[in-house]
Amino acid sequence: MFVDIAKVIAKAGDGGNGVVSLHHARGLPMGGPDGGDGGHGGSVVFIASNNENTLVNFRYQKELNAEDGRSGKGSKMHGRNGEDLIVKVPVGTQISVGSEIIADLTHNEMRFIAAKGGRGGFGNAHFTSSTRQTPKIAELGEPGETLELGLELKMIADVGLVGLPNAGKSTLLARISNARPEIANYAFTTLRPNLGVVKIEKGRELLFADIPGLIEGASEGKGLGDEFLRHVERTKVLIHLVDAYNDDVAVAYKTIVQELKAYKIDMSDKPQLVALNKIDGLDDDIIDDLKQQLLAVAHTDTVYAISAQSGTGVQQLLYAVSNVVTKQKELELAAEEAAPKIPVITAPVRSREDTWNIEKVANGIVIIGEKFERFALRTDFENEEAITRLRDILRKNGVMKKIEKMDLDEGSRIYFGSTDGSFLEY
Ligand code: GDP
Ligand code: MG
Repeated sequence: MFVDIAKVIAKAGDGGNGVVSLHHARGLPMGGPDGGDGGHGGSVVFIASNNENTLVNFRYQKELNAEDGRSGKGSKMHGRNGEDLIVKVPVGTQISVGSEIIADLTHNEMRFIAAKGGRGGFGNAHFTSSTRQTPKIAELGEPGETLELGLELKMIADVGLVGLPNAGKSTLLARISNARPEIANYAFTTLRPNLGVVKIEKGRELLFADIPGLIEGASEGKGLGDEFLRHVERTKVLIHLVDAYNDDVAVAYKTIVQELKAYKIDMSDKPQLVALNKIDGLDDDIIDDLKQQLLAVAHTDTVYAISAQSGTGVQQLLYAVSNVVTKQKELELAAEEAAPKIPVITAPVRSREDTWNIEKVANGIVIIGEKFERFALRTDFENEEAITRLRDILRKNGVMKKIEKMDLDEGSRIYFGSTDGSFLEY
């Protein structure tokens, strides 16, 4: 079975804790603070690779865990950073959270940091100041991000079959393709291309898409999604099938060309092969005449004559299309090599907002706001000095002032983010 959809949990490493440590030099009554910082947690990083073809591995390995950062040590020793977890996926993999696509890995070696490792906490060496000579405060590491991700591999066909309804697209695909990959949930609005793997010769396969006539969909009032059009655009070559029994083959041909134009599909650099279909039962001079009619309007010097039904001329067409695909791939490679090698790195867009607000709950309040929630996560609530620092931060940012106006009972709880975590007492 061909798996092209998977669900995984990406768990980045937690940051290591900073430590409290005092340097004890011989003869000095009070040592200086020398607690090192915790290491950062490793991130979960996806990399698109031409060497991967399926998402099948993720059926057995659903949890992707990057390494935690280590705690700091005395003598200002920094804890080791956690290693990133590098996850290879096929080119063309889309990554989503819920229904939102957050990354589209369209090129080889494209990277995406899906879950970011937690920051390491500062050790007490960090908190020395003129008024605080021996701070006994250290931060906890921040937890790494955890995300449930959907992976979806969209197979992009090498060859697209276009043509009016009844031109014989489905017949041709059924004839030449020996395997049909199971495509789960192709998210095209209404129309689905049928995909087929076509064996051209030993060791040489191409993926064909029978693209349902754009007109077929349009006439039924179906909207064509952007994804559908993108798919057509990404195929390397088009085969334009024309039914020999059309009243006017030139008009039939032009109708499709117009339609592609109308949908603003950029075909400028996409080679097209024109094939006259259903030549079984037609005399040679009629076939020649129809070919001439097509040559007069098509931007090509070859019109292939085939019968999808009997197979006449099909092999020649396949060889020709295979050669064009090879040439296209070489051109693309050359273009990629000519372009300056800038690693393409996309990062999730996350709002790091400074806004905050306060919500009332039964036994106190909850401060909502990323900045303060993160400070709270880094706070060791067992440590008096750490708690004092957190209170100071709230005071300096005007949060305390607002809380004081709320007329809370003494002993009320001040939570951060939710009522699940640690709290301060009012
Ligand atoms: P599509 O709409 O382009 O997918 O066209 P189909 O593959 O469904 O074919 C439409 C009709 O044309 C069907 O009845 C096919 O049997 C017939 N057909 C397709 N190819 C040939 C061919 O090479 N010769 C003949 N005589 N009929 C064909
Ligand atoms: Mg069809």
